Amino acid sequence: MITVRGLTATYRLGRDTVTALDGVDLDVEPGQVFVLLGPSGCGKTTLLRCLAGLETPVAGQIEIDGIPLSDAATGLFVPPEDRPLAMVFQSYAMWPHMSVFDNVAFPLKAGRRRLPSNEVDGRVDEVLSLLGIDHLSARSVTTLSGGQQQRVGLARAIALRPRVLLMDEPLSNLDFRLQVELRGQLRALMHELNLTTVHVTHNQAEALEMGDRIAVMDAGHVVQTDDPESIYHRPVDEHVARFVGDMNLIPGSVARWSEGTAQVQTASGMFLAMTAENISLPEGARCFLGIRPADLVVPAPTDAPPETCLTATVTDRRFQGDRMMFGLKAGNDPLEISTHHSVRLSVGSEVRVHIPPDSAIAVKPSPQTRPTDQSDDGD
Ligand code: ATP
Repeated sequence: MITVRGLTATYRLGRDTVTALDGVDLDVEPGQVFVLLGPSGCGKTTLLRCLAGLETPVAGQIEIDGIPLSDAATGLFVPPEDRPLAMVFQSYAMWPHMSVFDNVAFPLKAGRRRLPSNEVDGRVDEVLSLLGIDHLSARSVTTLSGGQQQRVGLARAIALRPRVLLMDEPLSNLDFRLQVELRGQLRALMHELNLTTVHVTHNQAEALEMGDRIAVMDAGHVVQTDDPESIYHRPVDEHVARFVGDMNLIPGSVARWSEGTAQVQTASGMFLAMTAENISLPEGARCFLGIRPADLVVPAPTDAPPETCLTATVTDRRFQGDRMMFGLKAGNDPLEISTHHSVRLSVGSEVRVHIPPDSAIAVKPSPQTRPTDQSDDGD
């Protein structure tokens, strides 16, 4: 339903041009919660603003439901107010002198998408109750908590019944507990409304929990688009592996590769690993053996095949409540292991560590540079 092809967007910065998006392709299906995830400055907000019509791309096309909204080649550009979208921002941007009810009702009474006046009250009551804030209807927005204000912001966007809801870090100003509570509630709400949502965040836990699909971005590029479990368990490269959750990355090289599996030669031995779909790993190429701290088994079971084990020295232990983290060293390679809090390993001791082949992943190194900033020659 949302199709983005070859989208490139730049900003002028003095005499320089900053390429914020560099040939981005995206496909968002109807009713999906689609998350744009990536580090600060990778282009998430620019992509959302291009969808909203708040930036003009220098190349590429955007379509919603097969209707072109922007096409740099032909100069087509549908202005924001004529796009079937609503946007929720990080800051709540309320009208402070108005009640909750009036804040939600205002866009329905003014602007291009206004409703016949006899339908406004019913629509507002419906969304306030959907978001569980109907009891706050008469309150001034300035008397609300952050979480309540963010619900009003959402109610205002949803009341417009957009085809697509764009959300730019809507939870990041809230305290941690509320963020976690709202993640699940928002996802359930979007599905209940069958509302196609593009949600921007740099928080990987939020992306994994909320997304039906996630596009991981880096330096103006989409590096991987997948369901959350594939992003977590089958990262296509080092950038995704490092950005989404903690992963041990043991340097090595590809000894053998066939679709879906690889043998990785490391300083601690040769290990069998899975690979992401649709990537090739040429034999002899540099790669990493990737394994999550919670997937390593220590001490290795006595019947674990020797070719799935390595020897390491315990360098430190950190108590984390329900988990115990251990720092290890296998040769020169540091490893992190997360175990049940009852596991006891003494610092300085040598341990056998089991690497289950179905939890290990052969990870491609990231390209050294994904170019973003280009100097303008000023001509
Ligand atoms: P964050 O998570 O910090 O909001 P982001 O992933 O949303 O970051 P963008 O805000 O889209 O990233 O920025 C992408 C790139 O474009 C960055 O290099 C940023 O510095 C640059 N940029 C963004 N807005 C402007 C602007 N108005 N003028 C110049 N450069 C800009």
